[in-house]
Amino acid sequence: MFDALSESLESAWKKLRGQDKITANNIKPALQEVRRSLLSADVNLQVVKNFIADVEKAAQGADVISGVRPDQQFIKIVNDELVKVMGESNVPLAEADTPPTIILMAGLQGTGKTTATAKLALHLRKQERSALMVGTDVYRPAAIDQLKTLGEQIEVPVFEMGTEANPVEVAQKGIEKAQAEGINTVIIDTAGRLQIDQDMMEELISIKNAVSPHEVLLVVDAMTGQEAASLTATFHEQVGVTGAILTKLDGDTRGGAALSVRQVSGQPIKFIGVGEKVEALQPFYPERMASRILG
Ligand code: GDP
Repeated sequence: MFDALSESLESAWKKLRGQDKITANNIKPALQEVRRSLLSADVNLQVVKNFIADVEKAAQGADVISGVRPDQQFIKIVNDELVKVMGESNVPLAEADTPPTIILMAGLQGTGKTTATAKLALHLRKQERSALMVGTDVYRPAAIDQLKTLGEQIEVPVFEMGTEANPVEVAQKGIEKAQAEGINTVIIDTAGRLQIDQDMMEELISIKNAVSPHEVLLVVDAMTGQEAASLTATFHEQVGVTGAILTKLDGDTRGGAALSVRQVSGQPIKFIGVGEKVEALQPFYPERMASRILG
């Protein structure tokens, strides 16, 4: 487990010859190693600071376990804290008591929001839950076309009203269609922008207020690294998210964005995207992500 961090921690401890238990003093170099490791995994600096403070507290209160080397014990403390911060277990998608369940997708352009919409629809279909994808990006005809192409590919219907329509109305009409046809879940894809933009936020808020979704899922590109924290904070403060999907984890990022997103929003990451294909979606498991982040 965590080979890179294990090695550096072992050497940090070796410098403190003869010290066989964790103390307020000898923990400092070990905390430095954790800090370095998390920063190199692209966890946001403030998030790292908060996390280190948590680990320090947990380590100081830890009992000495006889026969266990302090570096090994320390690694376990770090891992346990990381899993704790990331939510202990997978949190499944919300499901409305009376269908349709409404899921609103939010996020910047290019993060993989439309792809995630289709991935989610396919995931639901595999669970015998019917889905309707609703395209509200009236600004980019290509976005609606992309959704339609994906819909055909996974055999999930798409509702859209072209590029002249009002996004709020498209969302409402889509839900009406799902109600009329007894469709289980509506996934509303929304317009993104390359950067945070007030018009985008206001549109999301309007759609959210109009349709009262059961889930607002923020789609975050794992390659965003450090930026993921401020991005999540802005979306969460302004729109209010209930969970996140972290995409592009098939890349070589260690996935530090996961820790940032979770800590900043307090909301669970529900799925991860691990490729461009529609099948490339997996439930998020905190322990697996902890191992990946700690390297
Ligand atoms: P949107 O603008 O947020 O709707 O983003 P798109 O869904 O159009 O995706 C942008 C690009 O990212 C496309 O080329 C997708 O194929 C790609 N993409 C989306 N999710 C993933 C993923 O999990 N892994 C990889 N490698 N690429 C992804």
